[in-house]
Amino acid sequence: MADPKPRKLSLTSRLLSSLKSKKSPNKNRNPSWASSSDVGSEIGPLSANSITSGISKMSFGDEEEVFIDIQTGERRDDTEMLHSLAHHGSFGSLKSENEQRFGEDSIPGERLFESLPEGVWGCVIGYLGMSDLAAFAFCCKTFRGRLGREVWPILNKPENRDEKLQFLVKLDSSLPSHLLCPLCAIYHRRTRIGDEKLKATHVLNPIFNCLYANEPTELPIRTRLVPGHRLPFTFVQLALRALNYGPQYGIPYSKLDRRLKDKESDWTHQIRYYHHKGHLLLRSTSKTFASPGLTLSGQRHLLYSREDYTPYFSVCAHWQNGLLMDLCKCALSHIPVPVDPITSQLKRGPQITLSRPAKAIVTLCGKCRPMRRCPSCPTEYLIEIRLDEDRSEPNPVARFKQTIVVTRWSDLGDGTIPMGSREWMAINGVGEFEGLDSVGKRGISGTFESQNGVAIPGQRMLNLNPKNKTDGEEGDDWY
Ligand SMILES: [Zn+2]
Ligand SMILES: [Zn+2]
Ligand SMILES: [Zn+2]
Repeated sequence: MADPKPRKLSLTSRLLSSLKSKKSPNKNRNPSWASSSDVGSEIGPLSANSITSGISKMSFGDEEEVFIDIQTGERRDDTEMLHSLAHHGSFGSLKSENEQRFGEDSIPGERLFESLPEGVWGCVIGYLGMSDLAAFAFCCKTFRGRLGREVWPILNKPENRDEKLQFLVKLDSSLPSHLLCPLCAIYHRRTRIGDEKLKATHVLNPIFNCLYANEPTELPIRTRLVPGHRLPFTFVQLALRALNYGPQYGIPYSKLDRRLKDKESDWTHQIRYYHHKGHLLLRSTSKTFASPGLTLSGQRHLLYSREDYTPYFSVCAHWQNGLLMDLCKCALSHIPVPVDPITSQLKRGPQITLSRPAKAIVTLCGKCRPMRRCPSCPTEYLIEIRLDEDRSEPNPVARFKQTIVVTRWSDLGDGTIPMGSREWMAINGVGEFEGLDSVGKRGISGTFESQNGVAIPGQRMLNLNPKNKTDGEEGDDWY
């Protein structure tokens, strides 16, 4: 565009060039999964065509420009106007605020905004990313009239899928019967409203009609909990929407709780959820009877599922990097080996060892007893050896057995969109994770357990991966 007077650039041109050069601050932390071709041509339930107003032609001042009032010749300070633009409530409340400040005869909010000088608009728009611009244009007729319609087709381009999702997620509170699909970047209609049930992984369980539901994707749209059970992201969405906006938006998070028994082993799992500061927290407790004196191959047999050589208990994506499996083996090694009966001992020789009563409480060592926090995602682990009743044991004397119990706590994120939730991405091994914002000093385990007034016994919290290994499956310590 060869315009000799840069001050006469239209708002749209200014907008386009600003969007090309600037990315939303959230963008950097999103992995580049969204480069695939555009799936849907809709913009969710909204259509650009439904917006009828044309594009306003406006001119802008340079960013450093000082505004001079044409009538009075005075230097004008737009600070106050910019402050009123930062208003977060509705125009109704703006109106009443206005009335309070300036009396009932003051200008209604929309007209006040309409009368803002173009330069002020330019300043404000310059600060917005694409999804915020779209939201701005969607918020009322005045804003749309000022911004025009061009942002919709731009947002709908395949390369702007992340921005489109970030815009669509802002509409979540107004769409109780729909659920935002991160694969299509469309709100699908829920086909089983309020009756969505979490089922085993092998059961086909669509809760909306999505063409891409069974297509392979790099996006973690579900996370593995235990063998045969995964948690789809849609259920995190449903649980948090119900909490945030009301029951008609999803399902109670308690409906996700499960008690599971593994088909091929003695492992049992108890999976529970809790919420904290808009995030869904997970606690998964898995246990199995553990014989004393297991050899290394016996320990492996006990800990790893033959299905995928992943632990039977629930783990984050980084379990192969740190000490987790070593610590489990260490804990198993503390189970005391019972002494042979005296008759068997005498057959070997005259020396005998008298058996002592089996210790109910096995003390773990300074390495395997402390809680461990994964440095790469919001997950904490606790390994315990506990005495538990085996009801299938016919011999009443041997009914109480030592069990290994592995508990995992994780922060599953805010349930908006997978790539918008760095906790969800991190537990699934995608993206960088720098630390916890949402749970504070108590950690995820402390926050989770405080819901029942239970304080976790004063365990130290150590790093799960103190040597900061990142070899994953290539490393040699995990098996
Ligand atoms: Zn879809
Ligand atoms: Zn130990
Ligand atoms: Zn992790």
